[in-house]
Amino acid sequence: MSDNILKLKPEGIWKEFNGILGVPRPSKKEAKMVAYLEKWAKDHKVDYVKEECGNIILTVPATKGMEDRQTVILQAHMDMVCEKNNDKKHDFEKDPIEPVIKGEWLHANGTTLGADDGIGVAAALAVITDPKVEHGPLECIFTVDEETGLTGAMKLDPKDFTGRILLNLDSEDEGEIFIGCAGGMDTIIKVWYELEPAPEDSTAYRITVSGLKGGHSGDDINKNLANANKLLTRILWQGTNWFDLQLYDFQGGNLRNAIAREATAVAFIPNDCLKDFEHYVKDMEKHFQQEYQVTEPGLKVMAEVAEVQPDVVIDEMAQYNLLNGLYACPHGVIAMSQTIPNFVETSTNLASCKKKEGYFFIQTSQRSSIESSKQDIANMVEAVWSLADADVEHTDGYPGWAPNPNSAILDIAVKCYKERFKKDPKVRAIHAGLECGLIGDKIPGMDMISFGPTLRGVHSPDERCEIATVQMFWDFMCDILKNVPKTETLAKKAVAATKAAIKKATEKKAPAKKATAEKAPEEKKAARTKAPAHKSQAKKAVGSKKTASVQKAAVSRATVKQSAAKKSPANKATKK
Ligand SMILES: [Zn+2]
Repeated sequence: MSDNILKLKPEGIWKEFNGILGVPRPSKKEAKMVAYLEKWAKDHKVDYVKEECGNIILTVPATKGMEDRQTVILQAHMDMVCEKNNDKKHDFEKDPIEPVIKGEWLHANGTTLGADDGIGVAAALAVITDPKVEHGPLECIFTVDEETGLTGAMKLDPKDFTGRILLNLDSEDEGEIFIGCAGGMDTIIKVWYELEPAPEDSTAYRITVSGLKGGHSGDDINKNLANANKLLTRILWQGTNWFDLQLYDFQGGNLRNAIAREATAVAFIPNDCLKDFEHYVKDMEKHFQQEYQVTEPGLKVMAEVAEVQPDVVIDEMAQYNLLNGLYACPHGVIAMSQTIPNFVETSTNLASCKKKEGYFFIQTSQRSSIESSKQDIANMVEAVWSLADADVEHTDGYPGWAPNPNSAILDIAVKCYKERFKKDPKVRAIHAGLECGLIGDKIPGMDMISFGPTLRGVHSPDERCEIATVQMFWDFMCDILKNVPKTETLAKKAVAATKAAIKKATEKKAPAKKATAEKAPEEKKAARTKAPAHKSQAKKAVGSKKTASVQKAAVSRATVKQSAAKKSPANKATKK
């Protein structure tokens, strides 16, 4: 049984949200929601544009006496993450979401609630229907598919709207105003290997790092959490030098946007030093536990004789490239913001390493609120792996939203908040993606802030909305709308900002393309392929068979590179 949310305050927003709860709207399957919004617009005699991708843009005239105000965009995304408890029967493409009131919070019944971002859509609709709200000309932009690709924002056509002030209604903490977010891109690495007979008089061990917390690669990157891939690499890298360890397998991490919680490897150790090796791993475990005593109390490292003894290992060159690459590859916070205290500006996540047939597949993801820094850290990751003779590809990614502490709409919002609630709002940026990054990239100079009521457990069946904060969110939004200045007040500032931003945007775009186009010439490439082999030969005599295998690998690499170059890289932009 669902609770009646129509008795909650403010009526307008809950009435609209109640309507939205009945409309299925999984990401990439928003057709019913698009139809709902079209019907809503027709019923309320509001002009609208439906973009090809499904985005809906409503154009709303000013209320009486507010005609000379600047046009404001209210923006929210119409799709929702669809997660449910295992025992819950629910078809997200057909069934309505059932609201359940538990104390101060509104939940759904065993599913995500979709307050992210249904409450944002509801707020924008309620502004239109509530005769008490005073506002200038409005444009309500409802985007599709924020959650799995930001594709609605990506495809948004600047010709379909005119506003240059944007209120994004997709934040999760009442009392906080967001003025920036990170852009992101992924860097994908392939390290090729050949198989060779397993060494004689050796025993295969399974070495596992586990018990770590993991966490989101954006929000949690500054929490000093351990990365299982990194810890396992330390053991193997040093183990190679000390024990002549020979690697068969390495599997670590999982999702591209999660910090690796677990990693496991299988490697051969010569029989005459098995006990030493076991001691060594125990020692390393102690070191790690000491290093992460506060943040990772559950950290565990195990070395056990492998349940199955493989009859092959990866070739020595591949092991050299893989372990040096993983060890040298940066992970974690790269830079903190100089303008916003405690805000991570740039980071990179060494997300996962998976053994596939013939190569190791390594996923990394970079984030920064500054476009050039995002490219810089992605280049750094590429540079490391180039030294390890790997193939490296970058996804297109999505742009960040650089905080503008001089934003005019931010000034107005802070004043409104202080006046109504008698306290300062927190002005923040988040180290994850928001649609504002893409919109700001399309419309240089767009003056944007993002805010919303308090939500918790988003993207999980535990998603809930703190009921009292919806009233606060509503009052705050209405105050801002009422206080938007007249057209001429902001016009000068906006023109200047647009000019500066366009200049910046042109400067930034040219070199990015060039860097990818300028690949090392073939000769250089061939020399590069051989260089580490010499190093390795110096370290240890390497048979001609090995050199041949390295060359063979180089040929297959070249072939893969060519075929990969024909395809345009898949865009894997997602917010979380
Ligand atoms: Zn959202």
